[in-house]
Amino acid sequence: MKFIARKPVVRTEVYRKYGFTYVEHKPCYCPRCNHVLNAGPNFQPKYCSECGQKIDFSEVKWEEEKILEHAGRRLANE
Ligand SMILES: [Zn+2]
Repeated sequence: MKFIARKPVVRTEVYRKYGFTYVEHKPCYCPRCNHVLNAGPNFQPKYCSECGQKIDFSEVKWEEEKILEHAGRRLANE
């Protein structure tokens, strides 16, 4: 039923930007095929580019990327 809009799956992920600077961001994923959706506060695709699932972003709270300045050592040990 991919023509019925579903909410995207929002995950919290941390990636290393450079050196010991880590950034927390919340990418949206397709609830049907798990493909990452290229969505942000200024752009939300209506459909998943991979499987065509209709996506409803109306309940997504957009947040700025958060820089975790002192997280380097902790994350490196995980
Ligand atoms: Zn999909």
